[in-house]
Amino acid sequence: MIDRTMRAVLTYGPGDLRYESVETPTPGPGEVLVKVARVGMGINDPTIAEGHWPIRTDRPTIAGHEFVGTVAVLGDGAAARHGVALGERVLAEQVAFCRTCYYCRRGWYHLCDRPMLFGLNLDGGWADYMIFPENSIVHRLPPEISDGSAIALESTSCGIYTVERGGLALGETVVVLGGGFLGLIMVQVCAIMGAGLIIYCEDDDHRLQTGKSLGAHVTLNLRRDDVVAEVRRVTGGLGCDLVVDHGQTEAIELGSKMLRKRGRFVVGAAYANLKARAIEFGAICNQNELTFIGRTMSGGAEANCFARAIEYVRRGAIRLDPVVTHNLPLADFQHALDVSRRRIEHAIKVSMTP
Ligand SMILES: [Zn+2]
Repeated sequence: MIDRTMRAVLTYGPGDLRYESVETPTPGPGEVLVKVARVGMGINDPTIAEGHWPIRTDRPTIAGHEFVGTVAVLGDGAAARHGVALGERVLAEQVAFCRTCYYCRRGWYHLCDRPMLFGLNLDGGWADYMIFPENSIVHRLPPEISDGSAIALESTSCGIYTVERGGLALGETVVVLGGGFLGLIMVQVCAIMGAGLIIYCEDDDHRLQTGKSLGAHVTLNLRRDDVVAEVRRVTGGLGCDLVVDHGQTEAIELGSKMLRKRGRFVVGAAYANLKARAIEFGAICNQNELTFIGRTMSGGAEANCFARAIEYVRRGAIRLDPVVTHNLPLADFQHALDVSRRRIEHAIKVSMTP
């Protein structure tokens, strides 16, 4: 029996998030009602909460794009549509797509022209229950993956996609430039994909230590070390082949100085620092023939990153337990935002339980 009301965190506007009682949604045709077991604090959630992302204005939206739960009610045709049964552990990718635009038809649904995104224009997972719509991409979870790790699978799939967009080849030198918990996932992805030398740069010694334990060969402190000189030094003056980044605007300029000629830079930063100095791409790219590559979310059907993330985590090739450091009650989401932003108690990734 499903309660008629549930608790949820609603985004009313920038900086205005409220934990309230709302009506429990009922799944329509092709939709799945999921009882949420655990949710994650994504990289973007603090910035969404602060109003850096466009949110719908016609009504408050339930926050949260990282979640895991069990199938509670199946709408008409939903079992066949998504290949799931009652009681199964499931999660959904961040985007529900239109299926008809140019990009969806090419399998690039992460680039959909009319995307529905959990926590932005689609009710998210920071609630007791949530709906997976008909056009969402649902994955079943194997029992080896805990709820705590499952909420970081979204980030893991983004990490795989980021490194692949950079075309990392066997034996290459890669710099993972910051990126918070995504940086720690990308370190592991680079190791799996056969990087010869993994250089991990962060501004926090605890994270650098974790990075070392997860496969980084060289760790550099962005506050303390001359990172450009060090990258040059450990590569015999050449510079690295690839930089993967989930930092801000400044990282593009910094990273470009670490690259060898014809090096590649994957720009995974989700939001720009509007106060940063403008980047002179001509000066950066021209003489060194650098390539800058965009990356958003976890790729489409062709990339297949989510399914691979599940498999890598299931067999322990990517470890998420050192990355997901905290779990708090959803009712304390304001505190959780604070723990995440201020890295209280060496917080890396914060999860919450509804
Ligand atoms: Zn589309």
